[in-house]
Amino acid sequence: VQIEIINTGSELMLGSVLNTHQQWLCRELAKLGYVVTRQTAVADSGEMIEQTVREGLSRADLVITTGGLGPTSDDITRDRIAQLLDCALHEDSRVVQHIEEFFAHRHRAMPGSTRVQALVPESAIVLPNAHGTAPGLVMEVPGGRFRAGERPSLLIMLPGPPRELRPMFSNQVVPLLRAKLPAMEDFLCRTFLTTGLGESLVEERIAPSLRPLIEQGLELGYCARVGEVELRCVARGASAVQIISQAERTIRELLPDHIFGVEDETLESSVVHLLIRQGRTVSVAESCTGGFIAHRLTNVPGASAVFRGGFVTYSNEAKEEFLGVRREIIRDHGAVSAETARAMAEGARHRANADYAIAVTGIAGPSGGTEEKPVGTVFIALASNGKTRVIRSVNRYDRETFKFVTSQQALDMLRRVLLKDQA
Ligand code: ATP
Ligand code: MG
Repeated sequence: VQIEIINTGSELMLGSVLNTHQQWLCRELAKLGYVVTRQTAVADSGEMIEQTVREGLSRADLVITTGGLGPTSDDITRDRIAQLLDCALHEDSRVVQHIEEFFAHRHRAMPGSTRVQALVPESAIVLPNAHGTAPGLVMEVPGGRFRAGERPSLLIMLPGPPRELRPMFSNQVVPLLRAKLPAMEDFLCRTFLTTGLGESLVEERIAPSLRPLIEQGLELGYCARVGEVELRCVARGASAVQIISQAERTIRELLPDHIFGVEDETLESSVVHLLIRQGRTVSVAESCTGGFIAHRLTNVPGASAVFRGGFVTYSNEAKEEFLGVRREIIRDHGAVSAETARAMAEGARHRANADYAIAVTGIAGPSGGTEEKPVGTVFIALASNGKTRVIRSVNRYDRETFKFVTSQQALDMLRRVLLKDQA
């Protein structure tokens, strides 16, 4: 199956918006067993859009366009494609009603221009937009029109905003593709998310034991990101289910506590779910991460059941005042020290009345390091009932990456303790 993605938008050409649709759509398609053959991004120019779509349709079974379905004068995808396909546009009354309701629910007047979004090509399947006003559109282009042969091509137009495109793709396009464009063979993909080991170590641990499965067709892929490694297992054909489940058993045996999740899970969601399951609560005391750990925890729906609250104690005084860290501890050991981290965690646990508390204190840089405590040094403490653990790490990155990696280590520390406590 040949699949091409065409992203439209002058903002992509100007560098003011990162083309995340490219990655997201490719990833979602790959999960279903479709591999994209070509990606193109073009400005909001009628000629460019028409030319690229025409070329795409001359090669591909499926062409997906993104963007340019909105109400403004630079939104020309729908018009240009209707022209290219010689298709008249007509107003779809259900879309008109949806747009009217969309504005009514938000107590906003409906601008006249938004009505153009209800214009749809005669033969198109209309994909209602649950999170916006412009519907997605699906058209079937007969074989012989742009490409040789009998086989038709599918042309799918999706709206630009990610929060509109993503649910529309997952809920409406995926079932449509399953029906209209069956993947060539059974395809199974399972992704494991690991932390605490680099990608070569992950490979060293698992690859030898997986060799027999690899000979049977198992494909392994590694994707290293800051603070985590994604391990992808793919199998095809009739024995795909059996190969993947055997691979999963082996992988879990060999990386028992490095795997924090599968597919789209995040470390913070796995931590929150463990806390919910165990009926435990957590608090955080953050210096160098500036609230980032609290941010990540509160990104998870349901966090309110387990997250008691956090302290961003950047100055020494704040550590003393909000967490009760004794002045002598900071004086004798320094604000960046195992002792201070420990006192911060214990103070946060006590003051927030939580079962667990995480504390971090470190030197994000670029300045402020010493020989004994170089830039990147961080102490992470975890206080629980009767016991406080402290680890030391050197995370030498730019400030933002430093925060992410440090939060990753802190959340992973909590995750491991929760696993141990539940056993
Ligand atoms: P709207 O009704 O909002 O105008 P639209 O379908 O016309 O939607 P565009 O105008 O092309 O879509 O894009 C709307 C917004 O969606 C852009 O400002 C941008 O923030 C985001 N967006 C568009 N294309 C992409 C992309 N390829 N990757 C990430 N974000 C994108
Ligand atoms: Mg627009």
